[in-house]
Amino acid sequence: MGKATGFLELDRQVESYREVDIRINDYDEIFSGTHNLDQLQEQGSRCMDCGVPFCQSTTGCPIDNLIPEWNDLVYNNEWQEALERLEKTNNFPEFTGRVCPAPCEGACVLGLNNPAVTIKNIELAIVDKGFEEGWIKTRLIEYRSGKNVAIVGSGPAGLAAADELNQMGHSVKVYERSDRIGGLLMYGIPNMKLGKDVVDRRVKLLESEGIEFITNIDVGKDLTTKELKETCDAVIFTTGATQARELPAENRDAKGIYPAMDFLTSNTKSLLDSGQPDQSDLSAKGKNVIVIGGGDTGTDCIGTSLRQGAKSIINFELMSRPPEGRSDNNPWPEWPVIYRVDYGHEESSQVFGEDPRHYQLLTKAFIKGTDGNVKGIKTVNVDLIEGKLTEIEGTEKTWDAELVLLSMGFVSPEHYLSDDSEIELDQRGNYQSEHGDYRTSKEGIFSAGDCRRGQSLVVWAINEGRGVASSVNNFLANS
Ligand SMILES: Cc1cc2nc3c(=O)[nH]c(=O)nc-3n(C[C@H](O)[C@H](O)[C@H](O)COP(=O)(O)OP(=O)(O)OC[C@H]3O[C@@H](n4cnc5c(N)ncnc54)[C@H](O)[C@@H]3O)c2cc1C
Ligand code: SF4
Repeated sequence: MGKATGFLELDRQVESYREVDIRINDYDEIFSGTHNLDQLQEQGSRCMDCGVPFCQSTTGCPIDNLIPEWNDLVYNNEWQEALERLEKTNNFPEFTGRVCPAPCEGACVLGLNNPAVTIKNIELAIVDKGFEEGWIKTRLIEYRSGKNVAIVGSGPAGLAAADELNQMGHSVKVYERSDRIGGLLMYGIPNMKLGKDVVDRRVKLLESEGIEFITNIDVGKDLTTKELKETCDAVIFTTGATQARELPAENRDAKGIYPAMDFLTSNTKSLLDSGQPDQSDLSAKGKNVIVIGGGDTGTDCIGTSLRQGAKSIINFELMSRPPEGRSDNNPWPEWPVIYRVDYGHEESSQVFGEDPRHYQLLTKAFIKGTDGNVKGIKTVNVDLIEGKLTEIEGTEKTWDAELVLLSMGFVSPEHYLSDDSEIELDQRGNYQSEHGDYRTSKEGIFSAGDCRRGQSLVVWAINEGRGVASSVNNFLANS
């Protein structure tokens, strides 16, 4: 521990994003792109190096990042060594440093009676410096086992598994149905939160270390699992949970109502292909936009709609507004379920003068014009009464909307691959396998990430990618 009294002397200072009125005019990252290293060293000194670091416990960082160790190294200006410690547990800190909601900070012991250490900012600064200084480079693989592994799906779970297995000496091929590698890191999380050059940089690095990436192959359709198995010794499914939750309300067939992922993917693809935002029917330009559902996806729809030039943006939330601070039944070190202002909320509030979120609203019906296009939404207020969502009489309301984005989460993976491979599903429709073991019901086939645990977080996908790699390595050693 570098400075015994750091937490007593210094306040938490979070690195700020670019100014709202500047950043809403482009699709560049919201981050400033530079780090105040002196300030971050000071922030590192706020870490108390507690005997039991809850930040890296099960309620904290899912990949057990060695947080107190690298906080101390940063405080002591040992950035390269801090990177070495960070890389021991995290394959892609440049992703988590940007997009992780930082459960570590929710579990930080200092957070019991003071604002938590700025762990995520420090993590990002370490890895950004690592790339700038050229410390992160191609690692030579000296040993090859002669075993081949096929990975289906190139999101963070697939990439982490590929990285680990390649470093263990196995030959790895990653199959991706999309035209670009990265899963939701590429098409899902928008540029503003995670630049696509950041994703490509890591993919190129993995490629230079020997991993083969094959795009535009939909396993289960273009190539059967049986054919794939004939080419390798083990198969891992990391296909994500891409089956979106539906909203079966009246007039759902009206034009102009889209799943959030169609909207976000279309815009990112357009930006990458042509340098221009999406100008198809999915564009929010000049439209009253309603985003149904919150979470990261809802925020990303708000941020993207704003940049496309929406006329107005409203976000419906079914549940009530979370409290400002932890409630009694949500104690430390649990993830704090509190009211947060994410980048899209901040931007929309500044442009339109109010927080876009409206709470406790149930969509009753869509209003369809004679031209078949959506014109609005009918809602009613709801409340949780005796554990049941109950409609409140007399609160019916109509809202204008020419574009509606459905962002109510994801139910499970699609099922054509599980049908093709004949693996069993769990009761939620995910590919059945146990966390820590990852074997499906079919010998030699493993599953990990969102397709196994349901829609989750990038850091959990990395956790599962690392775990499945270890399980597959054991399987290969005994086969
Ligand atoms: C809009 C949005 C924003 C998000 N924001 C955040 C955030 O800020 N922070 C955070 O931590 N998490 C966020 N998440 C969640 C996070 O992105 C996911 O939990 C994570 O990407 C899951 O990783 P994965 O590797 O399991 O699957 P995915 O990233 O979903 O990747 C699966 C890949 O498999 C491919 N695939 C599927 N089936 C096949 C097939 N049969 N053949 C070939 N390829 C196939 C898919 O095309 C996809 O590329 C967000 C999610 C969304 C939708
Ligand atoms: S990966 Fe997420 S939880 Fe882990 S240290 Fe980084 S920000 Fe915290």
